[in-house]
Amino acid sequence: MTEAETFDVIVVGAGVLGVATAYYIQKNSPDKDVLLLDRYLAPGQANTAMSAAAVRNMFASSTNQLLTDTTIKYVEHVQEGLGRELLFEKTGYLWLLSERQFSNGSAQLWMHRMDASGINYRVYEKEELTQMVPGLNMDFVGDEEAELMHLEQASYGLYGGDCGVLDPTRLVEYYYEEFKSLSSVRPRFGVEVERLILEADPKLDLPGEPFVWQEKRVTGVQTDRGELRARDAVVLATGAWSNALLDPIGIDSQTKGKKRQLFVVHASDKPALNELLFTDGFNSLGCIPFTILPSAGVYFRPQLQEKGFWIGCGDKLGRAFKYVQTDDDLVPESAYYENSVYPVLSKYFPAFEDVRPVNSWAGGYCYSPDAIPFVYFDHGVLVVNGASGSGIMKSDALGRIADALFRGEEYAELYGGRKIKADALSIKHRDVEVESVVI
Ligand SMILES: Cc1cc2nc3c(=O)[nH]c(=O)nc-3n(C[C@H](O)[C@H](O)[C@H](O)COP(=O)(O)OP(=O)(O)OC[C@H]3O[C@@H](n4cnc5c(N)ncnc54)[C@H](O)[C@@H]3O)c2cc1C
Repeated sequence: MTEAETFDVIVVGAGVLGVATAYYIQKNSPDKDVLLLDRYLAPGQANTAMSAAAVRNMFASSTNQLLTDTTIKYVEHVQEGLGRELLFEKTGYLWLLSERQFSNGSAQLWMHRMDASGINYRVYEKEELTQMVPGLNMDFVGDEEAELMHLEQASYGLYGGDCGVLDPTRLVEYYYEEFKSLSSVRPRFGVEVERLILEADPKLDLPGEPFVWQEKRVTGVQTDRGELRARDAVVLATGAWSNALLDPIGIDSQTKGKKRQLFVVHASDKPALNELLFTDGFNSLGCIPFTILPSAGVYFRPQLQEKGFWIGCGDKLGRAFKYVQTDDDLVPESAYYENSVYPVLSKYFPAFEDVRPVNSWAGGYCYSPDAIPFVYFDHGVLVVNGASGSGIMKSDALGRIADALFRGEEYAELYGGRKIKADALSIKHRDVEVESVVI
């Protein structure tokens, strides 16, 4: 029997979290053989590529604030300091809130926590919004359709000036190329991991191992191209697909997949949309910020390169938590745009009336119960997942935390020198605040 190929570390999943993790592990442990692999034919082709790739540090939990703030600063450093173009554009984030939403406890706590952490944001009042946001319908009085849809009119805008958008493919490329420049092992693509190999530790070579009384450890992966062994760790950065590998060995990832869709609308054909896209006054780019409407979870991202908007919706009740397993789950639904998103969007911004998407796609979020990611090292498998729809904006911090856990460090040092306990995002020693500001 031929010996299985063996590496020190096998990183399964080359999305943004896998490439960032592979990079930091390799960088800080140069002598280790780190194999990065993915079932797709190139890195960053799954949910990373489907993302709106907006980045914000405007979270309510101090944990997410830390993960995103340090990642955004790192992204800025890569682009400005290292001269790597990531198409990071500080469009800002604009959360439109109704009077009721603004004055309720959770928004107040959100702002209080942002004040305490020094997050850069400001509040726009109704009169300012009226002047600054072209075509924003702020008067739903007597509007039966708005009433039927339970739409609350915007009265405030919370604007985060350090937030923006980037190109996730370029971010993946950056980590991937940096990783490759350090690694002596060629990454492998088109390789499907079928299962994790869990073995007795130490092995006694008895038939039927591992028994309940034995210690156990993940020692490798069974792929569709054969078996691969890992001396130190199998890193699982498989996002919404993690349960397919963790459930069979009895590790409850506590994450669930959910479908998310984006629809592209071009602004060029309609002067009112063009005017909205090129709104002045919020940022130096002269464009409308990434904007979240007060009701129904509808949001849009300005897309300056293609002169348009990406429109999405963080629907919650009614959208199944579904194991995102096959590509069928990833087909965008045009009826969803027509019947769910469009009526809301065009009510707040009549400029979108009669404009139809020119493109659309769907992917899966990997939700954790508290909307904070998971990073833990359990019996040989190092899991990085549960980014809950914000993995791009947390990627640098999560890669560093995974690496700190790998090296057995008590603390992970994030970009800029801020620290977090390396096991703070684990299941067993979780030390986080529940996140309430999730789209
Ligand atoms: C519509 C949409 C909008 C989003 N918007 C934003 C946003 O604005 N900002 C933001 O920060 N985040 C956003 N996200 C979330 C973001 O995309 C994810 O949090 C992030 O991509 C997670 O990265 P990942 O590496 O865990 O996952 P993925 O990119 O999904 O990578 C997982 C990889 O694992 C591989 N894999 C899985 N199973 C196996 C296996 N058995 N064998 C081999 N390979 C395997 C997959 O092929 C894949 O490449 C959005 C997501 C969607 C779907």
